[in-house]
Amino acid sequence: MARTAVVVDQEYLKHFPGEGHPERPERIRVLLDLAGALDAQRFLLLPPRAAARSELETIHGADYVRLIESTSKHNQYALDGDTITCRDSFGVSLLAVGGFLKLLDAIAAGEARNGFALVRPPGHHALRNRAMGFCLFNTMAVGADYLKRAHGAKRVLIVDWDVHHGNGTQDAFYDDPAVLFISTHQFPFYPGTGAVTEVGAGAGEGATINIPLPAGCADAEYLHAFDEIVLPAAKKFAPEWILVSAGFDPHRRDPLGGMGVTEDGFAAMAQKLFMLAEESAGGRAAFVLEGGYDLAALRDSAAAVLETLQGPRSAPDRSAGSLQSGIQPLLRRIRQVHEKYR
Ligand SMILES: [Zn+2]
Repeated sequence: MARTAVVVDQEYLKHFPGEGHPERPERIRVLLDLAGALDAQRFLLLPPRAAARSELETIHGADYVRLIESTSKHNQYALDGDTITCRDSFGVSLLAVGGFLKLLDAIAAGEARNGFALVRPPGHHALRNRAMGFCLFNTMAVGADYLKRAHGAKRVLIVDWDVHHGNGTQDAFYDDPAVLFISTHQFPFYPGTGAVTEVGAGAGEGATINIPLPAGCADAEYLHAFDEIVLPAAKKFAPEWILVSAGFDPHRRDPLGGMGVTEDGFAAMAQKLFMLAEESAGGRAAFVLEGGYDLAALRDSAAAVLETLQGPRSAPDRSAGSLQSGIQPLLRRIRQVHEKYR
């Protein structure tokens, strides 16, 4: 059995949000090159399928799905100031969501132990009835809901390490105790949500954990946040599945983000989640690409995560070194806020 499945496809090149837009087709071009160089004995390459309308409508309103569909009649259509479609964008976004669902099915069927859907456009900002932040449909939210409905999952962990807060994903499961959503993100920053005090509501109170980090955080800060908040909460939750919104825009070379994470840092975070998946979730870990706008950083970081998904490695310890001031008090405050839900 190939250990790690990879979803990527030429079709993802066809979504074009306009000249000079950072979320550009070349992002997938470099990942196609990467996938083409992978050892077929170790990686299973999966072509995507299109998500069905009924699958989208578990998370999005029917009128909203029709609105996005209607954009395929226009050469260019601005859903908001920076979320722009072309004639192919609706079709490509169906393949982005469907590509992730295909990955989840492959893992559920035991065809692969874990995997990474290298898709675009990204999804984690998309709300039930609103496109925003380059995102049309919320791939992660549709995927997590699909696991509950199609595969009977009772506890799904979502970790979102994109530099931006995954407001759409948080919204989709805000009152749902079956989905634990944990996000690290730059704060204050786009889209403005993701404060420590956003903890979920109703039956889902406590099942949303936000780790809003100041600009300038690098591997050491991220890995401390993982060790002190993400992993203890995740272990207690005992997830059956681990899903990761893997944006590579916390990378130190990213032109949009203000963080300092390296390829080794992403690999170390992935390794912690890999180990947790092996302990708790029968190995089931599925990553989906969100942001990441420096092409070389994107390719190298995705390559580092894919290598990590093959099994534990002895990576250099990236958690060493002094922490930015304010990080330990922030992590303490997050623990305090969540203490009553333990
Ligand atoms: Zn982002």
